[in-house]
Amino acid sequence: MQKFAALFAALALLFSIAGQAQTLPRLYIFDCGMLSFEDVAAFGLTNDETDVREMIVPCYVVEHEQGRLLWDGGLPSAVAEQEGWVYNDGGTGQRLDRTLSEQLADMGLDMGSFDYAAFSHMHFDHIGVANEVRGATLLIQQAEYDDAFGDDVRAIYQPDLYNGLADLEAILLDGDHDVFGDGSVRIISTPGHTSGHQSLFVDLQNSGPVVLSGDLYHFRFSRREQRVPSFNVDRDTTLESMARVEQLLEETGAELWIEHDLALFGELPHAPAYVD
Ligand SMILES: [Zn+2]
Repeated sequence: MQKFAALFAALALLFSIAGQAQTLPRLYIFDCGMLSFEDVAAFGLTNDETDVREMIVPCYVVEHEQGRLLWDGGLPSAVAEQEGWVYNDGGTGQRLDRTLSEQLADMGLDMGSFDYAAFSHMHFDHIGVANEVRGATLLIQQAEYDDAFGDDVRAIYQPDLYNGLADLEAILLDGDHDVFGDGSVRIISTPGHTSGHQSLFVDLQNSGPVVLSGDLYHFRFSRREQRVPSFNVDRDTTLESMARVEQLLEETGAELWIEHDLALFGELPHAPAYVD
């Protein structure tokens, strides 16, 4: 009996060593809500040009040997208190079935498990868990910080949803940023949708590199036709950012993941499964 116990202990050790040789970075994709629209004109396309009316709102966690990054924060967690779709007067619907916090618990993680937190931008559907993040270092463009926390907060922002971020240590960025110093996880500055909008490059070893779009595009059609939403802060800057990302994709062979693309989301593994 003791012999078996020793054998099992040895095997367990062997597997834990093998487990450490995991491929990193890893990317976990979470369902952090859905949006629905009756009309897509605000996104710079007509209702005839796409039949897409629903968007996924994902959150992502990047696991790197040097630390863990939260990328984008989904819909406000309070949306989950109401069951099913909730519609506003304009006919826009939102729903959140499980909070990120609940989903992280399945993995033995919580909102204090991140070394870094970064949001593509501060619109309500990207910072929903912001006030729950504890102990992480915030990676944010100076321009976004000024618009979200300055004296003259842009009307589209809802500070109540993210003011807790002001308590975090922050690294204020002015352009691209190599998160862990080895080039494998890089924030790419893509202003235009908001003043300090950013996207995320992740160099996955097995699946190949990807760029998480943020709201550089909302629809595949927008990418094909270079359409700019009417609510972007700067149209020309948006077009420059689109061109810059297309060039990055060409240079690196990375695939662009439009974050709000529900069809794409359906094809990808969801946490606790991951891509690496
Ligand atoms: Zn947005």
